[in-house]
Amino acid sequence: MLLRNLIIEYTDRLKYISSTARLDVEIMISEVLKYDDKVQLIMDYNREIKKSEIESFEALFEKRLNNMPIAYITNKKEFMGLTFYVDENVLIPRPDTEVIAEEFISKIKKLLLNRDCEIIALDMCVGSGAILLSCARILKDELDKNTFERIKFIGVDISPKALNITKMNMQNFQLDNIMLVESNLFGSNVLDCFKSNIDIIVSNPPYIENSVIKTLEPDVRDYEPIIALSGGDSGMDFYNSIIESSVNYLKNGGLLIFEAGHNQAEKIESKMKSCNFHDIYTKKDIQNFDRLVCGKFKV
Ligand code: GLN
Repeated sequence: MLLRNLIIEYTDRLKYISSTARLDVEIMISEVLKYDDKVQLIMDYNREIKKSEIESFEALFEKRLNNMPIAYITNKKEFMGLTFYVDENVLIPRPDTEVIAEEFISKIKKLLLNRDCEIIALDMCVGSGAILLSCARILKDELDKNTFERIKFIGVDISPKALNITKMNMQNFQLDNIMLVESNLFGSNVLDCFKSNIDIIVSNPPYIENSVIKTLEPDVRDYEPIIALSGGDSGMDFYNSIIESSVNYLKNGGLLIFEAGHNQAEKIESKMKSCNFHDIYTKKDIQNFDRLVCGKFKV
């Protein structure tokens, strides 16, 4: 079969379950043929696909027909220009989260300019490491070695399986100065030594209301880890808990940055206000939702 015909035929079969059927097919066949980019694929449209290649492709295609997200099929997801390894133990990084990663990077740069001592930056619910590791990798490229080494990065997650993936991504991105802690939020006493010591906390916690989970697309509902999605009945459980604990871990003047669910920014803001956070602002994502909430802890 010619590559062009394979793309047409399988796109047709996939279009009932995927709104990105053609792209999905192109990604999966590129995976089998080991193409790095779309140009190679287009140049090879008239290539004859061998039987063994079709078989390998069909194994992937079958997974997609069962609604498995492309990122879990290929074990890859682009985020902030980096390719993260992902599997069903971590949430798939979303483009909307880049707003949060960018803010985290820019705040750390400001902190480095204003002070010459160590800066402590913590990602609560680090998952694949999307926010923390993209920040570390980008700053490692931008800053001189001494300045970069002034940042102490900490990633926290309750799931040891997720932390194995954070570790794998750390290695892929040649990052070694990151401390990973297995902890239920701030529960572990390994974090005690950071009390009143952290400059900046970032978090994209699980925030979906329990009642909404069953209405999600099957790609998400049936494959992404429920512990990375569910924010309790109100969706606010993790925000509330992280805000309440952060006041014990942040320095006076320390920052807390959240990714917010599309309708949660106001609730997060009022909870932060009630816990001594000031100068609170929000930022919008590409769909115009208030996706980021940031505030300064000051007593
Ligand atoms: N911090 C990770 C991300 O932003 C994981 C978040 C989560 O598991 N809720 O993608």
